[in-house]
Amino acid sequence: MYKVTLIKGDGIGPSIMEAAVKIIDATGVAIEWEEQFAGLSAYETFHTPLPDETLESIEKNRVVFKGPLTTQLGKGFRSINVALRQEFDLYANVRPATSWKGANSRYENIDIVVVRENTEGLYAGLEHYIGPNKNTAESIAIVTRSGAERIVRYAFEYASENNRKKVTIAHKANILKFSQGLFLDVARDISKEYPSIECDERIIDATCMHMVMDPNQFDTIVTTNMFGDILSDLTAGLVGGLGLVPGANIGFETSLFEAVHGSAPDIAELNIANPTAVILAGVMMLNHLGETDAATRITNAVKKVINQGTYVTPDLNAGSTVKTNEMSDAIIDALDYEAVPA
Ligand code: NAD
Repeated sequence: MYKVTLIKGDGIGPSIMEAAVKIIDATGVAIEWEEQFAGLSAYETFHTPLPDETLESIEKNRVVFKGPLTTQLGKGFRSINVALRQEFDLYANVRPATSWKGANSRYENIDIVVVRENTEGLYAGLEHYIGPNKNTAESIAIVTRSGAERIVRYAFEYASENNRKKVTIAHKANILKFSQGLFLDVARDISKEYPSIECDERIIDATCMHMVMDPNQFDTIVTTNMFGDILSDLTAGLVGGLGLVPGANIGFETSLFEAVHGSAPDIAELNIANPTAVILAGVMMLNHLGETDAATRITNAVKKVINQGTYVTPDLNAGSTVKTNEMSDAIIDALDYEAVPA
């Protein structure tokens, strides 16, 4: 029996997380879900966005399955997502975007993994106003040699373990000569330890243009925190939207699995959120736990349902009236079908 800390989150979080938990339970893998709270809903109920009980549960279980958390724009408490990544040193954020037949998208056969540094950079939390009138603000990007080394090594190890051929270093070392320059220098050095994997380097703005023009040239991308955040939404757009892309936040002791997307307040009350991204985050969690058969069964069931295109939420089929729970029930019904080729 595994024990996993479950945080359903804000906005669309509870509906999609309940769908994903039901599917994981339907595979028969024995997981005791320890429900905890964080984010805006925790703040409203417990007057803190990150209760001590939640931290203690994560400390104990070391595996977290988390829904999206709302962070207010330009005010309010600090992002709890960032806080959790820093507290548990979840330094590697792995965000794979793959094409699904049946999902309406501009491109086919996309298979891009963004490996994002998750604890430093511009999201390190070092920012303040200068002067009493708040007319100037400063945010400091932190890049350390050790932080850069571990994320670049993680990306190359991930590529070699997953039979991937190329790692692209995405950076802005032409302008940010110190912080991005250090990241690029370290990345070039580490890449030499992996001669069988092609190493490519691109400036981040050109990376975005190349990704829109010809995304199939990309394989694995390693980059700093904010660039990785932006690039992974871009890769989601290439494969059919945020409803399809999961993420794993990996540390040496603790791992946290979630979607790339946020709490989607625009559709929060409608029960039409696509549960696929968190279901696939659950697949990443099952693989992490060594439950690879269950992970494959869920992946194949998701493929079947998306390929068929009937029981999918409106983001995947504009005329659809299918609800979140109806799509997830169709995935449960498909759990025992044979694999459908990608
Ligand atoms: P968002 O990802 O919540 O939504 C962007 C767009 O994608 C919206 O139109 C939304 O309806 C759509 N979308 C997202 N997920 C979907 C799904 N599963 N199915 C169908 N459509 C989906 O981004 P946002 O609106 O910029 O942010 C909302 C809140 O989420 C903010 O408070 C932000 O800080 C937070 N956020 C949290 C996380 C996280 O918890 N890891 C990540 C990103 C944003």
